[in-house]
Amino acid sequence: MTTSTVGLAPSTVQPWRPFTCRVKTLRRLSPSFLRVTFASEELRDFADNGYDQRFKLIFPAPACGFEKLPAGERWYSELRSLPEEEQCRVRTYTVRAVRREAGEVDVDMVLHEPQEDREAPAARWALSAEIGAELMMLGPDARFDGPHGGLDFNAPEGAELLIGGDETAAPAIAAILERLPVTARGKAFIEVPEAADALALDAPPEIEVHWLAREGADWGTRLIPAVTEAAASLRIAPALETVEDIDVDIETLWDLPEQTAPSEAYVWIGAEAGVVKALRRVIRQDLGLPKECGAFMGYWRAGRDAD
Ligand SMILES: Cc1cc2nc3c(=O)[nH]c(=O)nc-3n(C[C@H](O)[C@H](O)[C@H](O)COP(=O)(O)OP(=O)(O)OC[C@H]3O[C@@H](n4cnc5c(N)ncnc54)[C@H](O)[C@@H]3O)c2cc1C
Repeated sequence: MTTSTVGLAPSTVQPWRPFTCRVKTLRRLSPSFLRVTFASEELRDFADNGYDQRFKLIFPAPACGFEKLPAGERWYSELRSLPEEEQCRVRTYTVRAVRREAGEVDVDMVLHEPQEDREAPAARWALSAEIGAELMMLGPDARFDGPHGGLDFNAPEGAELLIGGDETAAPAIAAILERLPVTARGKAFIEVPEAADALALDAPPEIEVHWLAREGADWGTRLIPAVTEAAASLRIAPALETVEDIDVDIETLWDLPEQTAPSEAYVWIGAEAGVVKALRRVIRQDLGLPKECGAFMGYWRAGRDAD
């Protein structure tokens, strides 16, 4: 899991800060997506960076809600050293939309069915979410005058785009497509549990959007072949790099360049880590896409919780 190094009670304006908020509206967009609109005065300072801006949702601890949530630079390590029942649960989500003037932030949460032996705090919260429920966020502070971090889409101008993801990345892909210049060109593939999960999107005219319904098949069944085929026709100047293998059951798959370089193609992939691993092997290793030309991110791992 990616965590911020910024504390929960900064004395000066920091890139990220905590926000207290309440659920204002709940809208079931489709069988698998719930749009949660959070609202509060504090959210008037939530930065509207668009693209794949990630942030943290902080869920109440089973025994004491937010009472023992630590503050300060070392908040996350202090949180993890509390007794389990007193620990707030932290999960990574994408900012789907920000309306600063109204103090509102939208988050599209996937309603995955938690297995009996898994706590799945985010999914359980979403499945029983109620208007007025209090939640904490750790997100980008608009008062900070500089880059906030947590934005991973970084395509060079004019590059042909190949974007792929599963339902957990659908909010990021939708927000990326909305912010792209009208001249952007390429393809986007979004694998979702069922056909009814294909949502309306606002994409530039030269971006082909393909919703791929899994309909009960394994994760990646539709995404891997579709993205592999599209990648084969990208104009890639292959790099002679060794692509290090990553054990996705032990490490987080998060393969990003420090900076992108001008190039004819740019690839962005976010999905279940095993699926991303397979696509990274094809695109980075077999086709030789240089590290500077793509982002490969395991958004979650089947069978493992985000802790
Ligand atoms: C940068 C980033 C942005 C993200 N943005 C979003 C977003 O906008 N919307 C969104 O819904 N998710 C998003 N995710 C994914 C989300 O963080 C994970 O799905 C998270 O694990 C859910 O937490 P949980 O408490 O429900 O389950 P966990 O406690 O983390 O896991 C419990 C069990 O559920 C399984 N599981 C977790 N997620 C899923 C899933 N989607 N489908 C099926 N099984 C699952 C795990 O493998 C595990 O077995 C994002 C992740 C990252 C890294």
